[in-house]
Amino acid sequence: MSDTPNFKGFATAAVYSGHQDQDAHLTPIFASSTFSFPSAESGMNRFEGKDKGFIYSRWGNPTFQAVEATISRLEGFGLTDNTGAPLQLKSLLHSSGQAAMATLFLSLLKTGDRLLSHLSLYGGTHELVMKVLSEAGIACDIIDMHDLAAISAAFKKHPYKVLHIETPANPTGSCVDIAAIVKIASANGCKVSADNTFATPWLQQPFAHGVDFVIHSTTKFLNGHGTSIGGVLIGKDLKLMNTKITKWHRLLGGNSNPFDAFLLMNGMKTLAVRMRQHCENAMRVAEFLNGHPQVQKVFYAGLPTHPDHLIMKKQMKHAGAVLSFELKGGTEEGKRFINKLKLCVRAVSVGTVDTLISHPASMTHYGVPKAEREMSGITDSLIRMSVGIEDVEDIIADLNQALS
Ligand code: PLP
Repeated sequence: MSDTPNFKGFATAAVYSGHQDQDAHLTPIFASSTFSFPSAESGMNRFEGKDKGFIYSRWGNPTFQAVEATISRLEGFGLTDNTGAPLQLKSLLHSSGQAAMATLFLSLLKTGDRLLSHLSLYGGTHELVMKVLSEAGIACDIIDMHDLAAISAAFKKHPYKVLHIETPANPTGSCVDIAAIVKIASANGCKVSADNTFATPWLQQPFAHGVDFVIHSTTKFLNGHGTSIGGVLIGKDLKLMNTKITKWHRLLGGNSNPFDAFLLMNGMKTLAVRMRQHCENAMRVAEFLNGHPQVQKVFYAGLPTHPDHLIMKKQMKHAGAVLSFELKGGTEEGKRFINKLKLCVRAVSVGTVDTLISHPASMTHYGVPKAEREMSGITDSLIRMSVGIEDVEDIIADLNQALS
């Protein structure tokens, strides 16, 4: 891995970080399950960690390593540790965002431990913590983390080992105050993980607000083109990351694969330029929907009327590209609207260059019980939009014809 100089700008770091120290212009796809040892001794040294060479791709691979170096660079971009030195982060690339979360939770929690989380979560995360972890004897309490007093009260009732937040949250875009939550959790000896999928490090750096871990579904904005599923777990406690968490990552087997890692590596090069356009378009679309007589309500923290607008401004550069809304006429009208769209794509997922539209209650959050869905604002008439980078006039024209 070549030495990456101290670039001034985030966009430059996104383009150049993680380059391999060889003549290939782009990071090659190392499609090799295993790596040869020059001698028996060198193989032994690799297993003992004395020699940094690769062993077996579930344990590490040059293509993954390039991606991990880039993500660490971007999540820590411009940040320093408490000695003033550049913040060092360790990233572990996974086969999906779910796999990254599974590694994190199973590394830190054991039977009898408790996890505290916020009521706005991606449906798969909600099911992971409420169904999978609970069957392993790890309880999860879900509260509204806008209410800081409720968080302190929860710690008085139970000793939580991990507090997990997703901000902005899927699909409502709800934002919670990362620094304030970290303050309460660390006073109670609890580690904090933040799902930064919707923001990306270009809009928000949770490590700047004191979190211990950041999770991404790289499937979304980091890849940017919808070409691969992936996830990453990033941590600042290098000892913990390099020992137990690396071990659990390897043993649980949620590793990436060289082709998906290559696609992600190339996608990340355009992160800054894509995010700029995504955000500009999303703001225009939110304003259009907000002013449309057929629209009941728009949920987008970029709108000054959104209850989380000030929290968003405190910790993010911009509210991002995902918004949701309800139509007058409810679910039936929503279905008619979605079926009339000609440009926007009817599909789940977010963060691709094209605009995606989905219906959370029947799709991404189908597995979450209705009462819990509604507590976090996911009504049956809610429609989610991931605004792409097309000419915004074309997106608005499509929405307009479908609403008419
Ligand atoms: N976190 C968030 C915020 C998500 O929206 C998703 C998926 O939609 C995930 C995590 C899970 O990621 P993946 O589908 O890559 O496993």
